[in-house]
Amino acid sequence: MILSSPHVHTQFCDAKNTAEEMVLSALDHGFSSIGFSSHAKQVFDHRYAMDDEREKNYISEIRRLQKKFEGKIRIWLGTELDLFCCAERSSFDYVIGSLHLLPMADRIWGVDNTKHRLIQIRDEVFGGDGLAMAMEYFRYYGAYLFAQRPHIAGHMDLIRKNNMDGDVFDESDPRYQQAALNALQMVKKSGAVIEVNSGAMARYGAKSPYPSRFLLEAWLKMGGEVMLSSDCHSAENIMTGYAESVDLLLSVGFKTAKVLGRGDQLFETTELAPIK
Ligand SMILES: [Zn+2]
Ligand SMILES: [Zn+2]
Repeated sequence: MILSSPHVHTQFCDAKNTAEEMVLSALDHGFSSIGFSSHAKQVFDHRYAMDDEREKNYISEIRRLQKKFEGKIRIWLGTELDLFCCAERSSFDYVIGSLHLLPMADRIWGVDNTKHRLIQIRDEVFGGDGLAMAMEYFRYYGAYLFAQRPHIAGHMDLIRKNNMDGDVFDESDPRYQQAALNALQMVKKSGAVIEVNSGAMARYGAKSPYPSRFLLEAWLKMGGEVMLSSDCHSAENIMTGYAESVDLLLSVGFKTAKVLGRGDQLFETTELAPIK
């Protein structure tokens, strides 16, 4: 099985390690390719995303590493977009379409901030109706993906991040599942590959990756394609959660996954095999 991750953060945005430290960790773990995905420039709040200066340095550093590690590992230059990003897309080899922010009730809310903040959105914007909040998130996500047409659909049910105990909204409710499935249809129309993102397993103790099993089952029936993604913010987590993600995908019925290519093609296909 070819190992890779398209979703790697560095000190150029909100992560701990340098890009070179991430490459060295990827090599240690037997990766054949790696893609960097610093948070793209936004029209406001450069706290966790890049600004003009950092973007310039990011691009030149990743291009330098591509040359330095040529023949050892294929390095790709990507970026993680959000609703308010203003980056020039053609500067990058590929883009991940993610939705961390939602504009609602005259404010912009971070949906993956803290549990306290999620409850605040539920109560202040949706009058305590967590299900309505989750459904609105998926409506935005589907429309956003369809409009952006990124190469990769990022952590599609991120709204679950602070609902691990299921006490903010009920993920088994048919209305929740239908809203998520509607978004999935829009992702299919966008042509994106869905990432199976284990970032929250490394950072927040989540038991499983994004997206939920029922979405993966529906995605398989739709003929959709998946790729493993660590969304890592430190070098030691370059493939944290991959073993569990592969087991999940195999149990759903996926036989193969996309990975970032080792040559000129952005994607290639690998057989899925359990990771010891
Ligand atoms: Zn993200
Ligand atoms: Zn990310």
